[in-house]
Amino acid sequence: MERTLIILKPDAVARRLTGEILTRFEKKGLKLIAAKFMTISKELAEKHYDVHKGKPFFESVVGYLSSGPSMVIVLESANVISMTRKMMGATFGYTAEPGTIRGDFGCSRGYNLVHGSDSPESAAYEIPLYFKPEELVEWEFSDSGWLYGRD
Ligand code: UDP
Ligand code: MG
Repeated sequence: MERTLIILKPDAVARRLTGEILTRFEKKGLKLIAAKFMTISKELAEKHYDVHKGKPFFESVVGYLSSGPSMVIVLESANVISMTRKMMGATFGYTAEPGTIRGDFGCSRGYNLVHGSDSPESAAYEIPLYFKPEELVEWEFSDSGWLYGRD
């Protein structure tokens, strides 16, 4: 089953939007299998955004991600990466479509509320940065037939 790392970034926590954002993922039917409320260190943020090292925004995005507490979660479902990327919307709030998290809750260029892995390879790199294998909880939905049936 596919997994993704989602971070409700420091602006989402500071603006008290964690519940709103988590609710969207829960209502969609995505399974929460890990959660951690933490302030991401500069060193961890640098590892997280290693793929962007050398780009003009690298230092500033590392500063942003480590600037205050975040809610870090892992979601699991078939196709979870493409679904969550669509739910997040385009990178910046002012271009993200209404109906998406970034489109509905923000209009800033610098602050965009959420991170989500963009491929299975990214998820495989990102999840172990935050969670030990035993912190990923295996459990079953009682209504999975209704959620995933008739396919
Ligand atoms: N970012 C930025 N300026 C840019 C591009 C990206 O500040 O010109 C930040 C933004 O917070 C974004 C993160 O760097 O979420 C990672 O960029 P990416 O292109 O991977 O966007 P995402 O996958 O988050 O949509
Ligand atoms: Mg990205």
